[in-house]
Amino acid sequence: MKRGKLTPISQILKGSRDDWIKWAQEDLSKSLRSEININKAKNVILFLGDGMGISTITAARLYRSQLQKEKNIREGDAALEFEKFPFVGLSKTYNANRQTSGSASTATALLSGVKINQGTIGVDNTVVRHDCSSQTKESQLTSILDWSMTEGKSTGIISTARLSHASPAATYGHTASRAWEGDADMTNVTGNCKDLSLQLFEDNKNITVIMGGGRRTLLPKDFIDPQTNSAHSKQRIDGRNLIEEWKKDKQERSKSHSYITNKKQLMEVDASKTDYLLGVFSASHMDYEIDRDDSDIGQPSLAEMTQKAIQILKKNDNGFFLFVEAARIDHGHHATKAKKAIHDVLSFDDAVKAGMDETDADDTLIVVTGDHSHVFNIAGYPAIGNDIFEDKEYQQPAAVPVVDETHGGEDVAIFATGPMSHLFRGVHEQNYVAHVMAYASCLPQRHQAYPGRQEE
Ligand SMILES: [Zn+2]
Repeated sequence: MKRGKLTPISQILKGSRDDWIKWAQEDLSKSLRSEININKAKNVILFLGDGMGISTITAARLYRSQLQKEKNIREGDAALEFEKFPFVGLSKTYNANRQTSGSASTATALLSGVKINQGTIGVDNTVVRHDCSSQTKESQLTSILDWSMTEGKSTGIISTARLSHASPAATYGHTASRAWEGDADMTNVTGNCKDLSLQLFEDNKNITVIMGGGRRTLLPKDFIDPQTNSAHSKQRIDGRNLIEEWKKDKQERSKSHSYITNKKQLMEVDASKTDYLLGVFSASHMDYEIDRDDSDIGQPSLAEMTQKAIQILKKNDNGFFLFVEAARIDHGHHATKAKKAIHDVLSFDDAVKAGMDETDADDTLIVVTGDHSHVFNIAGYPAIGNDIFEDKEYQQPAAVPVVDETHGGEDVAIFATGPMSHLFRGVHEQNYVAHVMAYASCLPQRHQAYPGRQEE
């Protein structure tokens, strides 16, 4: 945190003793009135803030308070939407072999309900990282995306990362290495393993909505991407164009579909006439919200993607499962550029708000959580009203100089609202989240689809 000028206490502490007593009493009556919702969750949305530890949420609330023109009397008056959810629990994020984990294993815990090894995705802990030969058919896990599809629900994946990146890949993928995003990443791999981009487009043709970044591993080598007028580094070396294959598949099945690459095209998608939507808005990751080109030819916001996705998904009377990831909170923290990370928390919160506006709390379970924390913290004794950042390139000091700031191992928070959200209270193992989401929407988890596999 930047050290700010101290403001005289008399100018900032507007709440009197009586105010604080009144506010606490109001909060208490609200808690006493709260009811539990035991409906069946027709729809489930998992909002994942990558690297969104609790200190990150606190910083986002402070930052929002400072962005708001009228000074808030209490810092809490700038609370994020998901902070207002009725139920909150803690999630223990360690994985099968690390106390401090990464996005691949944690997203698998959240989506498949099983803790696994660091750096692997959608496979159990018999699989050794980077070892293709250890990856057997029996080691594969299924995810709530699979369980939802099997029950005839629509499904969606949205991420500001490459679609082949660790967290979104945990919805659909199975791999001994999260690094195997495209076939060019696997030239030294022996054995019968498939890159994540190919898994998404070849093995998951029934995902209703897919939006994010990462065109580079979807296009063939030397292909000139019309969106950038250049060939990307790291393209596919098998010569396949997975975007064209996606379109061809939908054509052959006579499904209405749109492939889009910018904000204007997203706005023009008619949800009522769209069966399948593929949006890939960047060659690699999408931009930080603070750097995003908001014009027609720029990228859509996470909230805009979320809103359009739900409009398409909710046409299905059986309901839907939607995964929404704000991936770059994590990247801002790795670069010790707190303002970029924290700004992305606010756009994540806007997406949560869009999700709430497009659905009904009676039949939609919304879960908001982080996959792991970061070592980012709010240290020292900054005065109330202290401006917590300088410019967006501001790098906060680090106690230990490393190339890349690291994840933190402490618990993260789970915020929930809607059917069965009261099951998120207390301290839980991270993989509990998948089980509650499935229970709330009465999904058979189908782990038994693989011989010998039982509920753990
Ligand atoms: Zn990370």
